[in-house]
Amino acid sequence: MKQIGEYCGLCGVIGAEKSITALVAEGLFAQQHRGQEASGIATLDKNKEIQLHKKNGLVSDLMLDIPSEMMSSEVIGGIGHVRYGTFGGSSVLNAQPILVRMADIPVAIAHNGTISNAGVIRRSLQRKGHIFQTNTDTEIVLHLMSRELEDTDYNIEKCLQLAISKLEGAFCLLLLVPQGMYVIRDSKGFRPLSLGKIRGGGWIVASETIAFPVTDAEYVREIYPGEMLFFPVDGENTTCEPISSIPGREQELFPERNTRYAQCIFEHVYFARPGSYVFGDSVYEVRIKMGRQLAREYPADCDMVMPVPDSGMFAAMGFARELGLPLDMGFTRNHYVGRTFIDPGHATRAAMVMRKLQPIPEAIKGKRVCVVEDSIVRGTTSKARIKALREAGALEVHMRISCPPHMYACYFGIDFPEENTLIANKYSVEEIREILNLDSLGYLSVEGMLGCVSAHKPENYCAACFTGDYPVPPPVSGSIR
Ligand code: SF4
Repeated sequence: MKQIGEYCGLCGVIGAEKSITALVAEGLFAQQHRGQEASGIATLDKNKEIQLHKKNGLVSDLMLDIPSEMMSSEVIGGIGHVRYGTFGGSSVLNAQPILVRMADIPVAIAHNGTISNAGVIRRSLQRKGHIFQTNTDTEIVLHLMSRELEDTDYNIEKCLQLAISKLEGAFCLLLLVPQGMYVIRDSKGFRPLSLGKIRGGGWIVASETIAFPVTDAEYVREIYPGEMLFFPVDGENTTCEPISSIPGREQELFPERNTRYAQCIFEHVYFARPGSYVFGDSVYEVRIKMGRQLAREYPADCDMVMPVPDSGMFAAMGFARELGLPLDMGFTRNHYVGRTFIDPGHATRAAMVMRKLQPIPEAIKGKRVCVVEDSIVRGTTSKARIKALREAGALEVHMRISCPPHMYACYFGIDFPEENTLIANKYSVEEIREILNLDSLGYLSVEGMLGCVSAHKPENYCAACFTGDYPVPPPVSGSIR
C-alpha cells in the first residue's frame, strides 16, 4: 500500500505531576503514524490561560521551538494532535489544536475523524454570517458552540452538548477549557479513543494505547461510543468526573441515535500500531488471526511467505504459521523515506514506492513466493512490486490480502482515493490478478475479517469501504466539504 491516509491522532493529559507538555509530546510521538503533515499542542496553565504551539511537520519538529512557558510547571493540562491533511491544503492554519476565544473564554479543540455533515452545517452558518478561519470540519464545532452561549448563560458544557448533538459521522474530540478537559467519542465509535491513568497521578486520553507505556500510564478502558468525560482542574486537584460514562446511557447524550456501533475495522487491518489495543482488542492478535483466517480461506502452494513491511508483517506471520510455511523477508525497507502516501503527486509516489522497498534476490531467487499485503488500493504500487520480485528471480508470485477488496469511499475519517480509482471498484479479483501479473490472488472475506475481533460483536464494526453498507448515510453530494 499506501495511498490511504487518515485524519489524525489525539493525546490529552491532565493533572499529572510530570511535565504535561512532555507527556503529550511523547503520546503524540508514539502515534506519529496517524499523521505526519502537522503537529500541535495546546496547554492550560494555573492562570486559566491556554497557549498554543503548532506547525507543519513531525512532533520532533514541533518540540524544537516549543515556548518555554508551555514547558513550565504552571501547566496543568494539555491536548495534542498529529494531522494527516487531505483538504484545505497544508496551511498551518488547518493544523490542530484550534484555539479561539469564545466570549473571552479560551477554548482549544482537537479532532480525529470526519464530521460527515460538516459541509451542510458550514454553509448554513456562513449564511448566518459566521466567518471561518480554517477549511477543517473541526472548526464548525466551535461555531456551533458559540451560537449557544447566550441561551445557555455561557455554560460551555451545555454549549458543547448542544453542538455535538448536531454532528453526524466520526468525531473523537478533546477540548481544553479553563475548567479542565472534555473528551468526546461519537455514538458510533468510528475512531478509537482510550483512557489511561498515569502512575503518580493524572490522566491520559489517546487515540491508541501505544501512547500509554511511553507516558508511564496504565490502560483503564476505552472511551465508550457516545460518551463524554470531563476532567475538572482546580489548580491543585484533578479528578475524573464522567458525565455520561456508563454503556447504555449514550442515549442521554445523543437521544436521537441508536446504539449500534460502527467501529472502523480498517484500524485493525492497517492503521493502528500492533502494540496498541483498539476497540478493546490487541491489534497484534487481530492481525495474526486475520493472517490465519486468510490462510484457511486461500492457502497458497508456495515455498515461502513474505510480508510487505511493515503493515503486512503480522498478517504474514499468521498466514505462514497456519500453513506451516517459512516466513522470510523478501523486501528490504528504507526507513528514511517515510510513508508513501505523504507524497502528493502520482509520479513522485511511484518513484517513492521503489525507493522505499527493494527485493532481496538472495531471499527469493528460484522460489515460489506468497506476498501478504494489507490491501490493494489503486494497484499501481502492487504492480511495481510484483514486477520487481519477478525481475529479482521469483519463480512464481502469489498474493494474499488481509482484508476484502476496497470498493467504496470512506466518509468517516479515512482518506481513500476517489472510488473510480480503486482497482477493485472497476475489476473482478480475477481481472486484478491478471493486471498485476500474479500467479494467484486471494482476499480475506468480510465475514472472515470481522470474525477476527472479539471484544465487540461483528455488527458493531463498520466495513462500508468493503461492502458499501454505510452505517450512516453518506453526504448527499458525496462531499463533506
Ligand atoms: S468505511 Fe472503511 S475505512 Fe471508513 S470507517 Fe468504515 S471500515 Fe473504516
